[in-house]
Amino acid sequence: MTAGDAGIVVVGASLAGQRACAALRRHGYRGRLTVVDAEPHLPYDRPPLSKELLAATADESAAALPSAGLGIDWVLGRRARRLDVPGRTVELDGGDVLPFTGLVVATGSAPNPWPGTHPPEVGVFRTLDDARALRHRLGGGDRLLVIGAGFLGGELAAAARGRGTSVELVEAQPQPLRSALGPVAGEFVAALHRAAGVSLRTRTRVGSFTGDHRLTGAILSDGTRVAADLAVVALGASPRTGWLAGAGLRINRGLVCDRHARALGTDGAPVPGIVVAGDVARWPHPWAGPDGAVLGHWTHAVEQAEVAARNLLDPAHPATYRPVPSFWSDLYGVRLRAVGFPAFADTVEVHENDPDGGRLDIAYRRDGELVGALTGNRPGRLAAYRAQLAEALGRVPA
Ligand SMILES: Cc1cc2nc3c(=O)[nH]c(=O)nc-3n(C[C@H](O)[C@H](O)[C@H](O)COP(=O)(O)OP(=O)(O)OC[C@H]3O[C@@H](n4cnc5c(N)ncnc54)[C@H](O)[C@@H]3O)c2cc1C
Repeated sequence: MTAGDAGIVVVGASLAGQRACAALRRHGYRGRLTVVDAEPHLPYDRPPLSKELLAATADESAAALPSAGLGIDWVLGRRARRLDVPGRTVELDGGDVLPFTGLVVATGSAPNPWPGTHPPEVGVFRTLDDARALRHRLGGGDRLLVIGAGFLGGELAAAARGRGTSVELVEAQPQPLRSALGPVAGEFVAALHRAAGVSLRTRTRVGSFTGDHRLTGAILSDGTRVAADLAVVALGASPRTGWLAGAGLRINRGLVCDRHARALGTDGAPVPGIVVAGDVARWPHPWAGPDGAVLGHWTHAVEQAEVAARNLLDPAHPATYRPVPSFWSDLYGVRLRAVGFPAFADTVEVHENDPDGGRLDIAYRRDGELVGALTGNRPGRLAAYRAQLAEALGRVPA
């Protein structure tokens, strides 16, 4: 790619898009770089939204991602609605067409919505605007209902309790995070919520909301009525691939790519000049099984964006993306950190489980081999697990 051609278009101005732009410039790309995003904001980071911003311990500058000096043509507040692969163009809402020589798909994921109608005080939480709205309402006497006690729902509950808000946290599984981390970790997290005064109801679903024009509460699957002035639906997120429909790319709950982050066509071959990074990608990993992995993890977006950008510039010598995945979440002063793929384990080894002291240490194995680990406030142990996993991954043939 050279200056003077149509240049590189990045769709998605969040973490993966911003990191891809920085990497493109760092690796010497001097040509035209256009970044499109449906949101009106310059790049910002999402983890602080459900932590410092909601807890009101930091202002929005804590979430800014550096984007000055990268020589980017911003197209913000505009949605890409169609990709024409043979024509090398991206069509935006409103009909404008952006030509490209190289394309980075970084459209992330969208929160799964409530499946039905709901009062206006029921929403999702993913964007800066969502965080602004909820931050403004917390601590003012409103009662909050959080639907889903996964990572996001848990952090929302924790931040809200920190602001003195009364919180109902409703979870369908027997423990929070059970499918991701298993029952022991789930009980650990449940204990943290309960100790903080959250009303956690497991094995329970929200059936319907009460209040037609203004939310007054919800009726749960066991018939219980709970009162609420605000509700957040935290039922996971799905890769945003709708705009790629009909483009001839392989979509399987994510845009499927190869180990070089190159988007695959429906014929299974890499499509020249199109790479993918972040939450939107489905990518192969030796520990992930035949369908590969989709991860909504900060580190994954950063690391895959780096590989995607390099390989867009130097397709003849593609770098391989084969990370030891990692993730963190903050709950009531406990930093939970995970490495590897705990969800793929068939056995767990619990080395420490002390919710009162905020300490946790669990190893996850499959067929006897370490495939993941989870720690609470034990950074040294996590580093040791990471090293073991990296070493094991190094033994798997490329
Ligand atoms: C509240 C919150 C807290 C989190 N906390 C943690 C944490 O503690 N630890 C951790 O590891 N991870 C955390 N994550 C996950 C992490 O933030 C994501 O993995 C990361 O944001 C992924 O970046 P991305 O660029 O791939 O996607 P996204 O951040 O989803 O960004 C995609 C961008 O693409 C844009 N877009 C989508 N479709 C279109 C279109 N058709 N046209 C134009 N633009 C489009 C969107 O507007 C969006 O800005 C958190 C996520 C959230 C929401």
